[in-house]
Amino acid sequence: MRLLLCLALLSASAHADLQHYTLRVAPSLTGYSAHACFPDSVPERLITGSGRALALMRDIRARFGGVTRELTPRHGALLLPRVPDDRCLDWAVDLGDLADGTDWNSATRIGDALVVSPRLLLWRQAEPYRSGDLELRFELPPGVEVSAPWRRVSAPGAAPVFRLGATAPSWPATLLLGRFERREFEVGGARFELALTAAPARIEAARVQRWVEQGARAVAGVIGRFPVERVQLLVVPVHDAHEAVPDAVTARGGGAAIHAKLHAGASDAALRRDWVIVHELAHFLLPFVDRRDAWLSEGFASYYQHVLRARSGALTPEAGWRALLDGLARGDRGTRPGITLRDAAHAPGANTMRIYWSGAALALHADVELRRRSGGRESLDTVLARFVACCREPDRSWRATELLGELDRLSGTTLFSTWHAEHIHSAFFPNLRPLYAELGIAGTPDAPRFGTAVLSGIREELMRPRAAASVTR
Ligand SMILES: [Zn+2]
Repeated sequence: MRLLLCLALLSASAHADLQHYTLRVAPSLTGYSAHACFPDSVPERLITGSGRALALMRDIRARFGGVTRELTPRHGALLLPRVPDDRCLDWAVDLGDLADGTDWNSATRIGDALVVSPRLLLWRQAEPYRSGDLELRFELPPGVEVSAPWRRVSAPGAAPVFRLGATAPSWPATLLLGRFERREFEVGGARFELALTAAPARIEAARVQRWVEQGARAVAGVIGRFPVERVQLLVVPVHDAHEAVPDAVTARGGGAAIHAKLHAGASDAALRRDWVIVHELAHFLLPFVDRRDAWLSEGFASYYQHVLRARSGALTPEAGWRALLDGLARGDRGTRPGITLRDAAHAPGANTMRIYWSGAALALHADVELRRRSGGRESLDTVLARFVACCREPDRSWRATELLGELDRLSGTTLFSTWHAEHIHSAFFPNLRPLYAELGIAGTPDAPRFGTAVLSGIREELMRPRAAASVTR
């Protein structure tokens, strides 16, 4: 009994193991002094997660036996063979002169703000963190703000304090520091934290919010709520882009994030039709998928980017189908002879269209097949809703086979794994002609014709406009 109690106390204290970091930011925004304390267990080995960070770290110090010692990193790591007197460590970071631009994984300047990867600023424990293990407090100069993808635990108006979560140290994340516009809004039960820079161009925050809200509402419609609780949105308005959204990526280090450049001159109509934000937001329907299996995550997002725009009314159902057929045709044309889908996924540069649209072909096949087998009660949406509710485990990376196995289990079918087994080693793009015929789609991808066939009801249902009211506010 006493042993059991002891074990219970031990495990309780393990959960309370919280590392306290403070980052003081200089008015220049390029100088930082960091103080990190490890009250429960001092890591023997700390790393930065970026080779470039080592050159930026200065004055790494700790006190041993009453004497302050300077520590030197060796082979990319900082070793602490003895426990410092106060269990704390200090260091400084000097980012030096920064180029103008938006390198989300490094450090660049945008007007009065900086984008900076936390990997350049922090020494962190080498082994993986458990959720909530690291608390980071910012001490900011007057007028300076910080945007991070992490959970903010400080009161409004107080110095910002974040809990970083399990994936923050090792997965990509980006901070925005300096002067920028912040606004928060909710869609489908999720909190969106928009950080909008005032350079190199300017755009009204209300327009950016409307652009995101429309996409987020459409994604929330898939499962009845937005799939994650919080999204950091870093938006940089730019001049003279050829598209409304010339660049956008998702990141998941300690929380969901979207980093985007937005054409400040884009019309309201162009923002309403934009597929990029829908694509990025739709990524959060799935957990992080290993990059070797990017065909799955990119495929599902590419499928939904068109389906959801039709459902939200941004496109007509016919235009939604034309866009989807056009994408799938590009995947077919982008399939190089003799290259299997697995090979293509390992060499993304030359195989982008193949990768994106092979996974979209699976999404279309699964969505139609689930609807056909269940008389319309089941769909890709209902299976993803079940998956998000029970099994998403956002803090781990999934292989395609694991994820497809779960989708099979949740749908009571084997259609996801069967498709995978058929296509992953195939050198051909999936043959969609039989499916198109059943859906009543004839003609060519450039000039499709839609008619009546055995599954034309499913074709209409897939892209049918939906009332936004069914989404949790
Ligand atoms: Zn994507």
